[in-house]
Amino acid sequence: MEDVVSSYIKLEKSGANLKARCPFHNEKTPSFFVSPARSSYYCFGCGASGDIFTFVEEFEGLDFKGALKLLASKAGVTLGVFNKEAESERDRLYKVMEEATLFFESNLKGNTEVLEYLKLRGLNEESIKNFRIGFIKDDWRKLYEYLKSKNFTDNEIERAGLAKKPDDKNKAMYDRFRGRIMFPISDSSGRVIAFSGRLSTPDEKSAKYLNSPETPIFSKNAVLYGIDKAKDSIRKNNFSILVEGQMDLILSHQAGYKNTIATSGTALSDSTVSKENVVSNLGLIRRLSENLVLAFDADKAGFNATHRAGRIALSLGMDVKVAGIPEGIDPADLISQYGQVEGADAWREAIKNSKHIIEFLLNKVLKSSKEDAKSDARKAGREIKEKVLPFVDALESSIEKAHFIKKISDASNIPESALQDDLKKITEELKYEKKEIEEAKESVNKLYRKDYIERKLLGIALWKRDKELEKFLDGVLEKYKDFKNDLIFEAEVFYGNSENLEKDIKDLVANLEEEKINEQLLRKMQELRIIKDKDRERELLAEIQDLNKQKHEKKK
Ligand SMILES: [Zn+2]
Repeated sequence: MEDVVSSYIKLEKSGANLKARCPFHNEKTPSFFVSPARSSYYCFGCGASGDIFTFVEEFEGLDFKGALKLLASKAGVTLGVFNKEAESERDRLYKVMEEATLFFESNLKGNTEVLEYLKLRGLNEESIKNFRIGFIKDDWRKLYEYLKSKNFTDNEIERAGLAKKPDDKNKAMYDRFRGRIMFPISDSSGRVIAFSGRLSTPDEKSAKYLNSPETPIFSKNAVLYGIDKAKDSIRKNNFSILVEGQMDLILSHQAGYKNTIATSGTALSDSTVSKENVVSNLGLIRRLSENLVLAFDADKAGFNATHRAGRIALSLGMDVKVAGIPEGIDPADLISQYGQVEGADAWREAIKNSKHIIEFLLNKVLKSSKEDAKSDARKAGREIKEKVLPFVDALESSIEKAHFIKKISDASNIPESALQDDLKKITEELKYEKKEIEEAKESVNKLYRKDYIERKLLGIALWKRDKELEKFLDGVLEKYKDFKNDLIFEAEVFYGNSENLEKDIKDLVANLEEEKINEQLLRKMQELRIIKDKDRERELLAEIQDLNKQKHEKKK
């Protein structure tokens, strides 16, 4: 327990136990405790608790088997096949993705034209191999036929997002990716879960990049490109570099910055996805390190999405900087245009010269107003209010807010009091958005706990064929119907040696009921904050009191 947890976060001795700042919620003083004797952890701040498996699952955003695989490789143990017959749909999907990756890789080997192109873009052979880059010809069913020859079913190939069924049911399936350079996207344990395909010969009618759809093993909000290769380095160097594209990422790794991850194909690259997705995406990076450097081409479409991610990162208490890349080029251009050595140097300079996001935006506004002859002080003031102050508002700490207000005032000659007035207005304007982010933060944590307990219970119910328990979990089964075998397997591993399964079930049910009450409490507190009606307020207060009483009674 101690070995595993301390490979992720820094633990301090505290009597017989160890303590740390909790990786699962934002806090300044440690309330996260590890008990080596009991092989478990508990956080007094957010209630996170469990054993080494749950720790790795929650920390890395993995499922149980992924955590098992990772822990086994850390311990130098090879996992055997547990039960061939119980191979679940998910196992088959991981397999089909691996097989497709091998197929794409072997296609690239013989293709000098594409290899030349990749080298021209600055990639060396080692990177091509490490990142398992591949290729698929522009043909209708090359991959499909290959996978069929490896005994995968139509259903598996479709569910993995690799081929599509035509509307005309009599026609054969066809490949989703055609004529593309293939970049596999892996989860944090290194299993390929999706692809991003770049058109090898750009044309007018197809998108330059095509990503896998969401599948049972690929959820955009739970993964960042390159996380499997970057996580150790992020932890070690205590900062991460966030870039946009695959090329940016691979070249950054090649230049020695293995702590780089990319938004490509994930929730962070999309400005329309919910805040909850962005929060859970950033949550994984924050658990590794609170220091984030954004490196992107400010002129591109991804700018807005990255901007939004930057603001949410600030509100999660992260320290967000922006790399000093010349305008109009992206990291890949910067690294590749000067050749291997000088390119790496230029990149190092850009990272070294990164500035806090507020300073970066302030400099940008001031620079453009200086260059614009028609611009006056009033216009600069307006721009600062629109483009810079929302980021000051996003800061968690009041001390930091005051610090940046002073900085902006010094640089722009706008009096601090005027900036404070504007900030108040912005805070009011962004109140709604901020509340949304707060709620997203809370519900991401809460959902996790409730989901977790429900999963465990459902696993036991299915494993023991406990109909009564299944009925109690009415509605949960539907959500996990694709993962039945996984849950049974999980329950067997966790509770196979249990001396008192009945008590374990009772504890889980009690925890679940408490979580449900907590969820109701949270919702009512949120309503209370915005309610104006006096009668409704009284009603809410009574309901909250009642819920608290229920919670108290359950604890007895
Ligand atoms: Zn916590």
